[in-house]
Amino acid sequence: MDLLPKCDANYVPLSPITFLPRAASMYGNHTSIIYGGTKFIWRETYERCLRLACSLRSLNIVKNDVVSVLAPNIPALYEMHFAVPMAGAVLNTINTRLDAKNIATILKHSGAKVFFVDYQYVPLASDALELLASNSMPLVVVIDDIDSPTGIRLGELEYEELVYKGDHRYAPYMLDDEWDPITLNYTSGTTSEPKGVVYSHRGTFLSTMSLLLQWKMGSEPVYLWSLPMFHCNGWTFTWGIAARGGTNVCIRNTCATDMYQAIVEHKVTHMCCAPIVFNILLEASLTERRWLASPVEILTGGAPPPASLLEKIEKLGFLVTHAYGLTEATGPALVCEWQARWDQLPHQEQAKLKARQGISVLTLADVDVKNLETMASVPRDGKSVGEIVLRGSSIMKGYFKDPKATAKAFKDGWFLTGDMGVIHPDGYLEIKDRSKDVIISGGENISSVEVESLLYKHPRVLEAAVVAMPHSHWGETPCAFITLKKGEKGEVVKEEEIISFCRKNLPGFMVPKKVVIIDELPKTATGKIQKFQLRALAKSFSVSVTKIIQRTPQNRNQRSQYTVLQPMEEAVLAMSRL
Ligand code: ADP
Repeated sequence: MDLLPKCDANYVPLSPITFLPRAASMYGNHTSIIYGGTKFIWRETYERCLRLACSLRSLNIVKNDVVSVLAPNIPALYEMHFAVPMAGAVLNTINTRLDAKNIATILKHSGAKVFFVDYQYVPLASDALELLASNSMPLVVVIDDIDSPTGIRLGELEYEELVYKGDHRYAPYMLDDEWDPITLNYTSGTTSEPKGVVYSHRGTFLSTMSLLLQWKMGSEPVYLWSLPMFHCNGWTFTWGIAARGGTNVCIRNTCATDMYQAIVEHKVTHMCCAPIVFNILLEASLTERRWLASPVEILTGGAPPPASLLEKIEKLGFLVTHAYGLTEATGPALVCEWQARWDQLPHQEQAKLKARQGISVLTLADVDVKNLETMASVPRDGKSVGEIVLRGSSIMKGYFKDPKATAKAFKDGWFLTGDMGVIHPDGYLEIKDRSKDVIISGGENISSVEVESLLYKHPRVLEAAVVAMPHSHWGETPCAFITLKKGEKGEVVKEEEIISFCRKNLPGFMVPKKVVIIDELPKTATGKIQKFQLRALAKSFSVSVTKIIQRTPQNRNQRSQYTVLQPMEEAVLAMSRL
């Protein structure tokens, strides 16, 4: 039997690019993309991608060249997920919230040959390009607004012109190794400097298949692009929507008005987002909010969704599936697969189960929680904490041009996530913290996620982030940063009230010794709270800091209710500049 050779008919490299010609053939007349007043069908999308790939080749783009793009969720960015690999190149989507310096660093590090820039980001891109040496300058192509062109340019080339000039009879680049790179994604840098994560055709194909299955996405979904496509290639749904012959609803901004309007107008069935977007949907005013005629499936992840928030968003008509992942795992690696027997449980209990990060996606080989010193698995008791480790084809190939960091990320055939978690007796994993976020107080480990979950239960807390604050006696102690929901006029929330709420519901050592009420928390483009900024801030607080915070009659009705004196003044000023 094993002497049967591989042949051309069965030895075909796995690649998500194959979903596009299939969609063009099976769903050719179905709407592929909607953006404002612009609509495409799958036949057109395929043809436009072939044309763009052809034009890229005529710009001397060859196998493994990097093509970077700085754009929000627009049709061009969707098309580039197919067109760039169809030219044999590697797509690098850049986070639009980065500053010019970071963008320049990515362009330089990736060695981008072509840089596509959405018209709205031309000033930012120009600043970034100015920081590059002339020998590392990519060819720049502006993407003008396809719905209402602006005429804004940066250099000679424009996206629609490239599409127009390309030949639709172009024969796409033939992949001969499924391990070839398809995209290069820089981590969002929540815990360290951004690193370039290389995805393979095989890994992205398998990840896409897992998510379609585990999110139970049937054919012809209407998918709202509320998750940035630049984040892990939209958790692979850039390719996944083509695989299901679905419709991509593109929006530039994830504001409540645009999301609700798109949901109602286009009858959206699915969307992905970080839990932080739940707040945007929940806090929408009555004029922004729309009645949902049928439930919308949401896949959430990227940060822990507190159980209380899950309960609230589901009451609005959204059905939430919770996933956990990271850039290095091609997006989601665990999904909290729902079990029918949980349907009978009270809502609160269901939300608690759903807040757990879940079980491995189907195409991963294995997931475990281990003691990294001994590499022994922790017992499945829901209590013993270890590091979450993963193995399988959708784990990144490695960090681009960084063998040292790549070697550090793997141990004994496992990828180390840097996240601390437990395994429950039913096999479901739950994150306790990122290893860097654990607070060690008097020798006790405190999970910042647990303290945050409680804070989210307070009726006035909108967002919460808990970090370690130096303490002369305990070493570290929790410090909470919170933002508040819009309350009644003149209604004031005091730090003491939040602390006493925690005291009633948490063991003493877990109670934050300090609660800072601020207008906004620093976040990454994907809505992740940047704890390292808060940690730096908390470091500047002395234990006696509460003594120098005074409330005055003048500020008692303001949203930030404290008059803050040195050194807090400095710290909060720094915060407002983040
Ligand atoms: P960065 O590491 O720079 O933040 P990522 O976007 O890859 O970039 O973030 C991955 C991290 O986000 C994970 O390691 C984990 O700490 C956190 N995360 C992702 N999904 C979840 C989730 N469902 N629950 C808790 N934390 C999550």
